[in-house]
Amino acid sequence: MMNPEEKKAFEKQIHAYIGKEFGPALVGQDDVNQAMVRQWCEVMGDANPAYTDTEWAATSSRGGTIAPPSMLHIWVMQGYPMAFIKPDDPPVDRQRELHQIFDKYGYKGVVATNCTTEFFTEAKPGDSIQSHSTFDTISDEKATGIGTGYFIETVTNFTNQDGEKLGRMVFRVLKFIPTAQPAAAEESSGGAMSKDPTRLAPALGHDNKWWWDAVNNDDKVLIQRCKSCETLRHPPRPMCHKCQSLEWDSIESTMDGTVNSFCVICYPEIPGYSYPLVGAVIELAEGTRLVSNVVDVDPDDMVIGMKVKGTVEQVDEVTKLPQFRPVKS
Ligand SMILES: [Zn+2]
Repeated sequence: MMNPEEKKAFEKQIHAYIGKEFGPALVGQDDVNQAMVRQWCEVMGDANPAYTDTEWAATSSRGGTIAPPSMLHIWVMQGYPMAFIKPDDPPVDRQRELHQIFDKYGYKGVVATNCTTEFFTEAKPGDSIQSHSTFDTISDEKATGIGTGYFIETVTNFTNQDGEKLGRMVFRVLKFIPTAQPAAAEESSGGAMSKDPTRLAPALGHDNKWWWDAVNNDDKVLIQRCKSCETLRHPPRPMCHKCQSLEWDSIESTMDGTVNSFCVICYPEIPGYSYPLVGAVIELAEGTRLVSNVVDVDPDDMVIGMKVKGTVEQVDEVTKLPQFRPVKS
C-alpha cells in the first residue's frame, strides 16, 4: 500500500502522460493488399464481394475492391514479435513506459474494457495505413470486481498516405492490482492446499456463468436457444444471430458428437493438464459446436468425423469439464 504522499507522486507521474503521443506514428508493414483481405474474409466468413470479387467490385460505386473497415487496425499491428517482449524490457513506446510505471506500483493486471471504433472512409488496395495514438484520459482510482485500478483511455487515428482520415478508435484498459484469489490467499497463509496444479479456470461473466453453473452443479451441458426463432447458439451470448431477439432459454445436450477438428497439444506442457492432450471442436448432435477434449484415445487414432460421446467430469480437484470419448462401433 502506498502512503498518501507516495500516491500523490504516483498519480502526478501517470497523469503527466495525458495528451501525450505513444511515439512516432506507426506505418503498416504491408500496404493494403488483396491477399491479406482475402485471408481475413475467409477467417471471418465475410463473403461481401466488395472486398474480394474484383470483377464485381469494378462495377460498384467504389470502382474497385475495398478493405473491410474492421481490418483498419490490423494494417498497423506490430506483428508476432510483440508477444515476446518481457515486462522488464526497455519500453518500445510511451504506452509500454506508462504500463511499466503502473507495474512498479503493483498495478500489474491489465484488462481491455471498452473499444469504440468509427470509420470515415474505406482503405483501398495499395493504401499505406498509418496510426497515431495518444493518451486521452486516465481516471481516478476505482474499485472494481477484479481489483483496484485506473482506467486509461487512448485514442488512435488512422490515416492513409494522403493524410485522409479513415477511422478512429477509442480503447480503454484497466490497469489494476489483482485481487488475491481465495485459493492463493489460503496457500500463502499456510492453509491446507492441494499441491497439484489445476486447470485454468474459465472467465465467468453475466453471459456465460449460467452455462458453467449447469456444468458445475448439475453435470449438464446446456445449449442456449432463442425463444423467438428457436435457433440454438454456443458459446453463450445475449443476442440471437438470426433474429436479434434477446429472449432465450436452453436445452440439454445429449452429448452425442462428431469431431469437427482437433489438435494434439504437445508443447509447452501446462501444469494441471495431462498429456497427451487432445483439444477438439465437437459438433454436437443438436448442431452447435463445443471446444473440449477427447480423452482415452491414442492421438494417432484421432480422425475428423469420429463419433464421440461426452459426459461432465471432475478433471482435477476443483474443475469440472465436459470430456468426450470415442464411441466404439
Ligand atoms: Zn432468434
